[in-house]
Amino acid sequence: MKIDEISEKDSTVDILVKILSIDKRTVNTSRGETTYYYGLIGDDTGVIPYTAWEFPQVIKAGDAVEIKYARVKEYNGRLRIYIDSRTEVILKPGENIEVKNTYKEVKLQDISSKTPFVSVTGMVSGITEHEYQKSGGKFILYSGFIEDDTSKVRISSFGRPLENGKIYSIKGARVSEFNGQMEISVSDKTTLNEIQGYNINLERNYRIFEIKNPAGSINIMAFVITLGTKSGIIKRCSVCNKPLTTGVCPDHPDAKTILDIFTYFTVDDGTGHIQAIAGKNAILPVLGISEDEIVKVAGDIYNRLYEKLYGHAFKMNVDFVMNDNSLSLRVNKIQEIQNSDVRQDLIELEV
Ligand SMILES: [Zn+2]
Repeated sequence: MKIDEISEKDSTVDILVKILSIDKRTVNTSRGETTYYYGLIGDDTGVIPYTAWEFPQVIKAGDAVEIKYARVKEYNGRLRIYIDSRTEVILKPGENIEVKNTYKEVKLQDISSKTPFVSVTGMVSGITEHEYQKSGGKFILYSGFIEDDTSKVRISSFGRPLENGKIYSIKGARVSEFNGQMEISVSDKTTLNEIQGYNINLERNYRIFEIKNPAGSINIMAFVITLGTKSGIIKRCSVCNKPLTTGVCPDHPDAKTILDIFTYFTVDDGTGHIQAIAGKNAILPVLGISEDEIVKVAGDIYNRLYEKLYGHAFKMNVDFVMNDNSLSLRVNKIQEIQNSDVRQDLIELEV
């Protein structure tokens, strides 16, 4: 019998498995002290926990064993194998058992490059397709975003379609970090399934102290408490978008330059403060001007930014970014807070 065939209806099971872990616990019962063993066993179809009241001392984690006449019961919502005095545990030296990978289900805010493969569930959006030639074949790279109720991060999938608006359960997704932000990719090891009837709350409202990891598209409400003195207008290359200190891009000397408003400031929501940067897409609506008008306000830009930002409370959609072990914000959208938005903690701050 294979692990994925086991059901609670089985009175006893006979399985060939690999011992993945053995832990020991001693408990006090009415009949005195009792020691039992517990852990995980696996085969090529899955992994299942076990509890053993009797366990041969010679068996170690990594051993292949045949387990005969074991009982099955559901415990904490999961099937479990019980090994007791009627069960036979037979060591099978030389038997090589492949164990199916299982991945921990995590929220997108908790993904970290320390755990390179995880399972996540989320809605996909902003997918674009790029065609690739590889070893004589044509492949499509799908790239865009995936979000759950804690974060929104980039996702890419080589050859396996992702459709906008659909919700996927992704087991064995690869986690990586790029430019201080987390990304998910669908690799050969990944199981990708569309799922129905799963609700995601996309209003990710947090306080600053609650965010410990790079997380994308988070809503916060906070005051601007400092404005960086070098905030102002910068030139960028229209091809590579790099800021230009000399006015000419070394890689694209003939390209047009475009004007941007680079703004950096500190925000505080009463639970913590953090550095933030914002570009023209976020800042132009706050200044109440259009892109064409940037050049007109150039002489007075710092004063205008100061007047509109400093000391004001804003509702912001931000990406938390991790660089050199410290978090900062990139502001996607910033709006002055309406009275109806003001939370109790902000009112207290204003007093
Ligand atoms: Zn350039």
